[in-house]
Amino acid sequence: MRSLRWYSKFSLKKKPAVVPSTQTSPQTIGPARTRFAPSPTGFLHLGSLRTALYNYLLAKSTGGQFLVRLEDTDRQRLVPGAEQNIYDSLSWCGLKADESPVVGGPYGPYRQSDRMAIYKEYADKLIASGHAYRCDCSKDRLNALRESAMKLKPPTTVTYDRKCLHDHVETGGVVRFKSPDEYEPFTDKVHGDLNLQPQYNYQDRRYDDFVILKSDGMPTYHFANVVDDHLMKITHVIRGEEWLPSTPKHIALYRAFGWEPPQFVHIPLLTSLADKKLSKRQGDIGVMSFRDKGVLPEALVNFVALFGWSPHRDTPGLSVEESMTLEDIVSKFSLENLTRGNAKVNDSKLYYFNKHHLAENIKNPEKLASLVEDYQRLTNNKYPEEWVTKLIKYAGPSVSSINDIESQHPYLFKPVDYNAAQKPPANAEDILALLNSSSDFKKSVNELAKQGFAKKDIFQSARFALSGGVSGLAIPLVIELIGQDEYHARLSAALNYLKC
Ligand code: GLU
Repeated sequence: MRSLRWYSKFSLKKKPAVVPSTQTSPQTIGPARTRFAPSPTGFLHLGSLRTALYNYLLAKSTGGQFLVRLEDTDRQRLVPGAEQNIYDSLSWCGLKADESPVVGGPYGPYRQSDRMAIYKEYADKLIASGHAYRCDCSKDRLNALRESAMKLKPPTTVTYDRKCLHDHVETGGVVRFKSPDEYEPFTDKVHGDLNLQPQYNYQDRRYDDFVILKSDGMPTYHFANVVDDHLMKITHVIRGEEWLPSTPKHIALYRAFGWEPPQFVHIPLLTSLADKKLSKRQGDIGVMSFRDKGVLPEALVNFVALFGWSPHRDTPGLSVEESMTLEDIVSKFSLENLTRGNAKVNDSKLYYFNKHHLAENIKNPEKLASLVEDYQRLTNNKYPEEWVTKLIKYAGPSVSSINDIESQHPYLFKPVDYNAAQKPPANAEDILALLNSSSDFKKSVNELAKQGFAKKDIFQSARFALSGGVSGLAIPLVIELIGQDEYHARLSAALNYLKC
């Protein structure tokens, strides 16, 4: 965990608040105002999606609001396209923000780079109250302080010696926060009671007086984050565990302003979860790349929700239904059921969820239309929309992903190779000849049955001719998809093959 080693104490005094709740109602808190605060330094990956999702879930399950705030003040780390990718990914997954100060779209978030005047105003307030001061120390001096701090025994990463606090610098330079002698212990909803302190060397005392405003007027992450969380009335901060060591600094800033800090919920990194292999392979895969793999947003959200949370079990030990829509998850979500890392999720579960949600979505005309759109994109509009709609309706429920339809039902796309087909029944020639004499499959089946052919033989013969024996789709549906001409062409081709 980043920079934790620089803290002398990392104590877990109380049992974490993750023991299964005994309450039957999922939520025990009032309306929560949460935010997802991504930095546009890369595409949205699974770990960040989970952070966004838990914030969304807490807000929605308590009747509160979910905000999106772009933390883009570190201009050097901006990645082109990342901002749009974040909005596209959230939108695709159905995580809609409740407030949008930016004109032009429901997902336009608060953007820190639009709020510079606010940070300056609040930095000035801290200077005026003696909680912050200007510092114009040169880079060389700061580097020398850093180097000397490393050589101390014990070493310390808090390096600044407060020269400028005593010099009373009036203008220019950076603004530093005058950190407290001791940081306040705090309670994290997942980690319990924590007391995180920097490691000091008391012979050569240095101070954790971190910069809050850079010399170009840009706020640092810590400062903008705290000012915004307060002004936006955030009640719960759910974020990755890597921010745990920053939390004492944040709380100190709240106190300096005389503000009440929000509740903190630090969720485990994906890499600290049980299935390390999975998180390594998938943790940094962009959310939108799952769409290209035929993964549905419903399945991805379902999958990601279970990375560190599981629905309440009324009867301990009894398994609960894990296939859930976003609405289902909202209704079951509770902070009490967050887990610390023992998430039982794996690759096959993603496709298990995908199969479930695919079958469900096919029943919903609007969602079916969007599946058709996905399929059209996947195949570069190779097939007519009407045909694709039928294809998905008929073949979709038997596959895990629409991307698998062609590989699992190749006969719907190309003629059958009878050499590679399953052997048909001995009386197949007679059956196929009669089927070929009429275009009404059902009628022909009845006729054959009347003549004493076993139903099993009739269907096996037809399947041999139409799909090479691949099952999974009812024969009338296969005929509808390949069309009457191809139906007869295949019956003839199969007959020819059997005659040779
Ligand atoms: N901008 C930070 C990030 O990208 C936000 C951390 C937080 O939620 O406070 O992770």
